[in-house]
Amino acid sequence: MSESSAYVIAGAGLAGAKAAETLRGEGFGGPVVLMGDEAERPYERPPLSKDYLLGKAERDTIYVHPASWYADNGVELRLGVPVTGIDRAAREVALADGSRIGYAKLLLATGSSPRRLPVPGAEADGVHYLRRAVDSDQIKAAFQSATRIAVIGAGWIGLECAAAARAAGVEVTLLETAELPLLRVLGPEVARVFAGLHREHGVDLRFGVQVSEITTAGGRANGVRLGDGSHVEADAVVVGVGITPNTQLAEAAGLEVSNGVVVDAGLRSSDPGIFAAGDVASAMHPVLGRHIRVEHWANALNQPQAAARAMLGQDVAYDKVPYFYTDQYDLGMEYAGYVEPGGYDQVVFRGDVDRREFIAFWLGGGRVLAGMNVNIWDVNDAIQALVNDGRPVDTARLADAGVPLEEVAG
Ligand SMILES: Cc1cc2nc3c(=O)[nH]c(=O)nc-3n(C[C@H](O)[C@H](O)[C@H](O)COP(=O)(O)OP(=O)(O)OC[C@H]3O[C@@H](n4cnc5c(N)ncnc54)[C@H](O)[C@@H]3O)c2cc1C
Repeated sequence: MSESSAYVIAGAGLAGAKAAETLRGEGFGGPVVLMGDEAERPYERPPLSKDYLLGKAERDTIYVHPASWYADNGVELRLGVPVTGIDRAAREVALADGSRIGYAKLLLATGSSPRRLPVPGAEADGVHYLRRAVDSDQIKAAFQSATRIAVIGAGWIGLECAAAARAAGVEVTLLETAELPLLRVLGPEVARVFAGLHREHGVDLRFGVQVSEITTAGGRANGVRLGDGSHVEADAVVVGVGITPNTQLAEAAGLEVSNGVVVDAGLRSSDPGIFAAGDVASAMHPVLGRHIRVEHWANALNQPQAAARAMLGQDVAYDKVPYFYTDQYDLGMEYAGYVEPGGYDQVVFRGDVDRREFIAFWLGGGRVLAGMNVNIWDVNDAIQALVNDGRPVDTARLADAGVPLEEVAG
């Protein structure tokens, strides 16, 4: 068997596509193979719960590259066939169609999958999980025919779906185990803002509830039974209760896996020929000094570019501050930084929280750990600079909108 010179990418999402683009951009002239189990060429997922779901963006707008880009750039795109295994000794991947592809370097960009709800009825017709374009199409269709829906889980996906449903004129009951939406991610101070936003838009918010069953009639979901025995009627149910990284290939191949494929700051796994990036990677963050797995678009955009350079032998340390954004109704926000659930001791607000035009800062030991700008723009770079700066800040100046953020550090 001759040694392969191919750089092979498993997973044709945003991360996979950006890695392929970077390999070519850096001048790599050997074979590049990008393999995905979906029939679609790589596309971006954020619009699936926003403008695409709202019917404001066409399908054409979601793709990472034009269809011709792959052939034009000598990237062999193999779609609709899952990668089923990695033979590390032979340096080959196996595909579901029985073929095998040799690799010189392999990137795992297999992303993540929605966590299923472990209750009766969770897989019935009319129960939707949102990850793929086809899921968004089905939910959009459900909004057309439904009078009322139930959304289970008040995380980002659940909240964005609730907002899209309200825009489509559908009644929404939002069911959440915690006492507020996004409580673990944001803490109570800012989570309250999102509860208020949805309440104002007519969402029936039910916090502190357990879902015991999705009830069905003739095999179709017709509501949700709660732990206290009460029943929420719904023509369709959207479940957004988190995601799990697609680590099956890595695990079966004996790579180190712990809440994602464990990689160093150069995105290299416990096998030096195999790299990982995007939702599936738990990467050492050189600034935070620990491994983090980031389930966000900006990470899937930037991290694989670093991984591709590392695959080419460049000295890489991926140290970008995690960044996230959302749009719900008339609220747009950006968030930069990293805070463990409950891992802060103070929230400082700058601006008008009631009007939802503000910046929130999460502080630990007087340092800015993260910041979120809500309906205020062109400040996220300054927020990232504060997070990177790492020195304690004067909280009065931080709260004072009259002091430019650039002058708050130190
Ligand atoms: C509806 C929705 C809205 C979102 N909104 C936002 C947002 O507003 N802001 C934000 O920052 N982030 C958002 N995200 C998160 C963001 O989209 C993800 O972080 C990003 O898609 C991760 O990209 P990825 O390429 O790592 O993984 P994915 O996008 O999951 O792509 C991985 C691909 O690999 C495929 N695959 C998996 N296993 C195999 C295998 N064995 N063989 C072949 N192919 C395989 C998968 O099917 C998939 O096509 C949203 C996500 C969703 C679903």
